[in-house]
Amino acid sequence: MDSADIAIIGGTASIDPGLLREARDVSVATPYGKPSDAITLGTLDGVRVAILFRHSRKHTIPPHLINHRANIDALHRLGVKRIIATAAVGSLQEDCSAGDVVIPDQFIDCSKEVHTFFGEGKFYHISMADPFCPDIRQALTGTAKRLNLRLHERGTYLRIDGPQFSTRAASKMYRQSADIIGMTCVPEAILARERQMCLAVLATVTDYDVWSDKPVSYDEIKRVMAMNIENTRKILHDTIRTLPIRGSCSCGSALEGAEA
Ligand SMILES: [Zn+2]
Repeated sequence: MDSADIAIIGGTASIDPGLLREARDVSVATPYGKPSDAITLGTLDGVRVAILFRHSRKHTIPPHLINHRANIDALHRLGVKRIIATAAVGSLQEDCSAGDVVIPDQFIDCSKEVHTFFGEGKFYHISMADPFCPDIRQALTGTAKRLNLRLHERGTYLRIDGPQFSTRAASKMYRQSADIIGMTCVPEAILARERQMCLAVLATVTDYDVWSDKPVSYDEIKRVMAMNIENTRKILHDTIRTLPIRGSCSCGSALEGAEA
């Protein structure tokens, strides 16, 4: 049967699908259209894992064209309980520099889109007070510490639509209230919770956002990206081995008492 317990949504980084045992690709149809790509299913140390690249494997889908509802619904249809979303982000704070790992605990949505599975008819006002799964966050921070990586155990992720980067003025405004900036993780977090799945973000910092006015060479960006991909893989491997499929969090009952 095509199913998995834990999913990785990869941006530029994921676990290497080649490391999965009994790996196979499945195409999942949803009422919301097609996911970004086929989903790879397999096992890693006995854990049933699904891997989906949100920009597609060839990295051809820009942030504003990702069908987030199809991606999350497809993982839900495969029986996934827990999602780790990886993200390359810009830093809005001086002490959070290229190569650092951030496990955000909050987000601010500065996008112009509406993200929900609910339409006319029965709908729910789910709580987003603590938007990320505490169990997965704890597992990710524990792994990053064991690996001695430069880690920020908390942080606020600010989401813009993209595909453009921010203006200098916007970047300076954002850094008053957020720590990192990206284009993809907020719809995923909202939609996963509406489907009562756990989700947390494993973010790695590429560079300072434009507020800093510090030009970075392309060679330097490539060096950092390669390091971030390697660190992300290590954290994912170790976390998947230790993460229980169901924990003590309340993500799985997000709709209880929330019906409008
Ligand atoms: Zn959870």
